[in-house]
This record gives sequence, C-alpha cells and structure tokens, in this order.
Amino acid sequence: MQKYGIDVWANGDFFIDNDQLKINYNSKPSLKEIVLNLRNEGFKGPLLLRFPHLIKKQVDMVFQSFQKASKELNYKGAFKAVFPLKVNHQPNFLKPLLEAGKGYNYGLEAGSKAELLIAISYNNKNAPIIVNGFKDKEMLSLGFLATKLGHDITIVIEGITELKNIIEIAKKETHPIPNIGLRIKLHSSGVGIWAKSGGINSKFGLTSTELLSAIELLKKYNLIDKFTMIHFHIGSQMNNIAPLKKALKEAGNIYANLKKLKAFNLNTINLGGGLPVEYSQNPKKLQTNYSLNEYSSDIIFTMQTIARSKCVNEPDIIIESGRFISASHAVLIAPILELFSSEYSENALRLKDKNPPLVEELYELYKQINKNNALEYLHDSIDHMKSLFTLFDLGYIDLIDKSNSEVLTHLLIKKAIFLLKDKNYTELLRIQDQIQEKYLVNFSLFQSIPDFWGLSQNFPIMPIERLNHVATRLATIWDITCDSDGEIESDKNNPLFLHDINPEVEDYFVGFFLVGAYQEVLGMKHNLFTHPSEATVVINDSGFRIKNMLKSESIMDILDGLNYDTKELITNIKSNIANSKYIDQQDRAKIFEQVSTYLHDIGYLKTVS
Ligand SMILES: *Cc1c(COP(=O)(O)O)cnc(C)c1O
Repeated sequence: MQKYGIDVWANGDFFIDNDQLKINYNSKPSLKEIVLNLRNEGFKGPLLLRFPHLIKKQVDMVFQSFQKASKELNYKGAFKAVFPLKVNHQPNFLKPLLEAGKGYNYGLEAGSKAELLIAISYNNKNAPIIVNGFKDKEMLSLGFLATKLGHDITIVIEGITELKNIIEIAKKETHPIPNIGLRIKLHSSGVGIWAKSGGINSKFGLTSTELLSAIELLKKYNLIDKFTMIHFHIGSQMNNIAPLKKALKEAGNIYANLKKLKAFNLNTINLGGGLPVEYSQNPKKLQTNYSLNEYSSDIIFTMQTIARSKCVNEPDIIIESGRFISASHAVLIAPILELFSSEYSENALRLKDKNPPLVEELYELYKQINKNNALEYLHDSIDHMKSLFTLFDLGYIDLIDKSNSEVLTHLLIKKAIFLLKDKNYTELLRIQDQIQEKYLVNFSLFQSIPDFWGLSQNFPIMPIERLNHVATRLATIWDITCDSDGEIESDKNNPLFLHDINPEVEDYFVGFFLVGAYQEVLGMKHNLFTHPSEATVVINDSGFRIKNMLKSESIMDILDGLNYDTKELITNIKSNIANSKYIDQQDRAKIFEQVSTYLHDIGYLKTVS
C-alpha cells in the first residue's frame, strides 16, 4: 500500500482505512465525508479545514513534555509559553488556541501594534504577553496601558534607542510599569533558511557591549527591578538541535553574568521559537533530526547545569513556538479539475496510409509491448520520439507525423506503467521521470502554500481517497493561476503518485497538509484568487460538526478591497451591454443578471459533478 509518508509527517493525526484517509480522533470520520458534506452545502472550490482538536493536541504536548523534563531533573524554574501571533492570527485558529491554553496560562507574543491589540483584548487572564520587534513610542505606550489593564506583559527591547524611549515614557507614567526584557545577539549563529534571525549579524538584539550599557541605563533610571527576561530567537524550523544547544550555553552564561551584575529580578530566559515540523514524506529524507522530548530535556538540562555551576537560581523558561503549535491543525482540500494527458487516447491517432518508418516502428512497439519487454520497449519508444522530433525540426516529417509520435509514445508509457505496476516504485519512477502527468488542481499555490513558491518549502500532499488502489501516475500539480511558478513538480526525493481518473465523470480530491503555520497570512491574491472557503471541524464521539463557516470572498468584495469603485464597474458593464450590437434590447436585463451572479460568486473554478 502507498502511504504517502503518513508515518513520517502525520504524527498519528490521520490514518488510512481501506480506501479512505481518516482523522484519528473520536468518531474517526474520513476527510471525504467532511468535504462532501460541505460541497452539498454549496461550498465548491478549495476548502481549508481546521481541526481544533489538533491545536489542543500540540499545546498539550509542548506543556506536558516540559513538565515531564522538569520533573525528571527536579528543575526549580517554571515553564511558560506564548504563541507568536505572526504565525497565524485567524480568529478561527486563535480562539480554540486560547481555549486549549487556559489551563496552562498559555500567552501570546506580539510583534506589531495590531498584534499587540489582539493580545490585549483576547489573551487569557494572567497569561503572559511578550512584545517583540521594532517599536515606536506609541507601541511602547500601548505596552504600559496593557499593564494597567492587568496584563502580565514584558516588552523586549531590541536596541538601545528603544530602551531610552521606555525610560522617557516611564518618567512620565505612574505605576504599574511593564516588565522589560532584553533581546541578546548571540555569536552562535542561526539555522535553516531563516538563519538571519540569530547570530552576530542578525537584525535584532543587543551585543555584549550594548547589553552592559543597557544594564547601566536601567540602574541609573531605577528600572533595574523591572528587568526580568533575556530573549533570543535563532530561527524558524531549526531542523538540527546542535545550534540550539550552543545558543543555550551562550544565553545561560549571559544570564548568570547579568545576575552577578545585580540584575536581581532577572529570572527568565526566553528561547524564542524554532521547534520544527517534519514536512517530509520520505522516511529516508527527514528534515528534522530531533524530537520535542529531546528539545525540552536539552533545554532544562543545559539551563540547570549552567545555573548550578554559576550558583544562580534556575531560570524560568519561556518558549515562543509557533510553527510546531499551528502547522498541523489546517488542511487544504482541493478538487482535481483536469488531467493533461487525457487527449492521448488511441482515437487521437491520425495514421496515414504511408507513415515515416520510425512512426511505423513506434506503432509496432505499441502493439507488441508486454510484461517482459515493457522496459526495453519503453526506452526504445522514447528514443524514437526524440529522433522524430529532430526530423520535424529539419523539415523531414510533418505535423501529423509529429502528433502521431507524441500520441504513440504516451500510449506506450501508459501501457508500460500498467504492465509494470506490480514492480517497485523506483523502477516506475525512473521510467516516468520524462513524462509526468499534469493534474490541474483547483487552488492557488500563491494563496495557500506561498512558502513553496518563496522558499521551496514542501508540504505533504496526498489523495484523500482510493487509497486501496495503486496510484500509478507520477504527478505534477498545476494550480489555476496563469503563472508558470504555480506548479509543483514531482521530485525524485519525494515522488507523488496520483490515480488515473477521469475528472469529467468522477470526483477526486488531494489534500495539502501542515498548512496551518504562516501560509494564511503570507498568502497572496495572485490572479485575484483569495483565501479559500474555510470550516472548523469539531469531531465528537458520534460524528462531526461544522462550525465557523467562512465563504471565500466574492469577486465583488475582492475588487472592492482593491479600491475599485464597484458602482462604476457595474455602470460600465451595463453600458457595454446596452451598446453591444450583438445583444437585443429584451435580452439585456437577463445578460446583466448573469454577469451580476458571477460578480457575487467566488473566483475559484467549479467542477461539473
Ligand atoms: C517568528 C518568531 C517566532 C516563531 O517561530 P516558529 O519557528 O514559528 O516557532 C518566535 N519568536 C520570534 C521572536 C519570532 O520572530
């Protein structure tokens, strides 16, 4: 059975049962039944499904892992966590997240005024708020206000100027004053494609020298008692733990040194985010080399060792994991619209009475191919096709001959794949590498998985049904934008096989998994495809319930959002209809009504069935 690497990336959240991909929770519904349910309600096009139980699962896992590690080592400091809002701000994600975090005092991290305002209004009572990123005086004042509203807020200073601004505001403000954190620039460098977040040349943080000046300033202005936290963040998707361990040692020693410099209320080390997600579908090509439990144990152990050797209190630990918490909760399901080799059927052949010898030979190969000669014939046919193309370029054969050679070669490949389908996949892969089937999928890569476009970050992809049938077509996925970058080629390390289907008569859906982190807010409206329709799926013991249905924006709303004067747009269309010499007067209203229906509908394509 093909498992699409589900044992590698799914963490037991999904499983294959017979032909269906199912959700491994409570009543264990299949993705297909959820999708059909929504499509029957009229939600066509791509669908983003959110699973709140998977948000809770990740939150529980993180807290329980650290609690276990602390207990084992009898660690004295507390463990805390905040969710970095930039990773996913959608209310339908955030509300279940805050619900899941209540019992743990799970807080929020904000990096902009807008995010800070979300945190101030939605954060769980008594849970921490941490403010990172560049801040102006307004944003700092907002932090002071949050303190007055009773929030446990820490403003992390990224540079000396920010600290000076805080001091200035503090002079004018009455109590309470927010806690102050200092972001440290580590000489241990960052990791992964986001490496610029850490290291000596990183955009953020104070060098050792600036750190000493900051402490002097805090003392001079009687704010040293407000200094409670040091912070660093060495990068997202830290797929290797070694750089983190190095950073921990550096940060632990900075902590101990600052304690000796009489930073008497400093009690917390904030390690930022970076806990990685395994996106690989290939067990032999893993992206990450450590587990959550290794992460928590290493952190607790390193901090304890340093604290003991320097005779300082074991610090509270706070992490800002975003990707690890949110990635798994969202799945994009998109229908297949078309396959692009379906035109290569036998009746597309236009054989002449007399064909060029190579075309005749191709035809013979096609007729005589069998299980034993399949591989050999296949290679011959590809060679023949190439030679025929050269003959065409030189003017020796015509367009009909060229078409016949294309059709015959594709037919041969299809037949060979069928004959060889019991053989192993590497073999099939080798054969098919030259000819991948193009699957047109009803989604926009730029909107729904922008990190694939921008950073070559792959996401697990698999069909959600027919899983008891061997899929034999090596697939290239085309999205519906007219951009040639809107394509996911099957790569050698991660071949994607899909089923041979006829979209005109049957439904077929593919799922894109682990899309809950970063993708939604980074997604762009290329070709004016906006966010897909979304649903929250609550799974109980007897079935499932759909909540928070959010329809994809209508074309009218999209245009309005781009500041088009929609009244003017409608007036223009109406007058174009009125002025058309092809439209009779009595048909005008009906035609306008049709255009109007399109304007108020979503922009994604629709499958017939
Ligand atoms: C982006 C960011 C995070 C989240 O990182 P993940 O890799 O998603 O866990 C945490 N802290 C800071 C300061 C960040 O900029």
